[in-house]
Amino acid sequence: MTGQPAARARWFKGHTHCHSTESDGNLPPEAVARWYRDHGYSFLSITDHYILTDPAELDGIETESFILIPGTELAAIPLGQQTHTCGLNISAQLDSRRGATPAETMQMMADDIREAGGIMQVNHPNWMWGLSVDDIRPVKGAALLEVYNMGSGCNNEGDPANGRPPVEAIWDDLLTGGKVIWGVCSDDAHRYTEGHPDGPGKGWIVVKADRLTREDVMNSIEKGDFYASTGVELSDVLSTQEGISLTISPDSRSGFVTRFIGSGGKVLSEVEGLQPAYRFTGEEGYVRARVQASDGSLALTQPVWVCGHRER
Ligand SMILES: [Zn+2]
Ligand SMILES: [Zn+2]
Repeated sequence: MTGQPAARARWFKGHTHCHSTESDGNLPPEAVARWYRDHGYSFLSITDHYILTDPAELDGIETESFILIPGTELAAIPLGQQTHTCGLNISAQLDSRRGATPAETMQMMADDIREAGGIMQVNHPNWMWGLSVDDIRPVKGAALLEVYNMGSGCNNEGDPANGRPPVEAIWDDLLTGGKVIWGVCSDDAHRYTEGHPDGPGKGWIVVKADRLTREDVMNSIEKGDFYASTGVELSDVLSTQEGISLTISPDSRSGFVTRFIGSGGKVLSEVEGLQPAYRFTGEEGYVRARVQASDGSLALTQPVWVCGHRER
């Protein structure tokens, strides 16, 4: 596929957050990469804590249908708040940095990641209740937000009774304020054992790109040309001036319900079936789709802005 002329864009399943024995995972990087390669993924970033895995050092892993994206996970605890980010597609290992606040720390991380040619993913905001919407909002260059981190203890659903919103609500809050930040699902895998709570294969992204190259995949991620999933597959996502339509790949599960969500996290419409569509009124701010299968698994498309101010 590399080397072919730019043809029709295709979907590539990939993953942006996992660990190996280079930090606190239980398999060496080669074996981690092989796990994802053998389970139908097209790209992977191994993001060990402060360790950059150079794909060139993993012999015989990359193929025509599987590529590696160099990455790392950065972490600091300003004001006692766990502040973790991934640097994806960076060209050099980054130093540990800590500012006075989580926002200041993430800004330093974002600047370092950008300088190394990469983009930043804000990780598991609700892990140890580390990051609030106010911590994330001011950070320029916070390109991705881990809306569902499928590792244990990530509190994706929040604790609303104690004033802790779900991460999806944090995302909607950021989007409502005009912040362009794309939603990601990941495993944050540490234990490569079937059925382990910190095991692989539970959250991923699917990127639309012309070719499976690092450059094309990263460009699509940066533009938000992808969807995030915890188990629902989409065969098409189409957004035009008029609206958004999806095609859900059918499988053995009985039903799919799609919510189209706009500013303030408002549910604009709820549609059953495999071909949900939404027509813009022009007043929604942004619109995103959230598909839920009967077993609870999800696909999340990226927001499309219909009106209003937005910035990165
Ligand atoms: Zn982390
Ligand atoms: Zn991690």
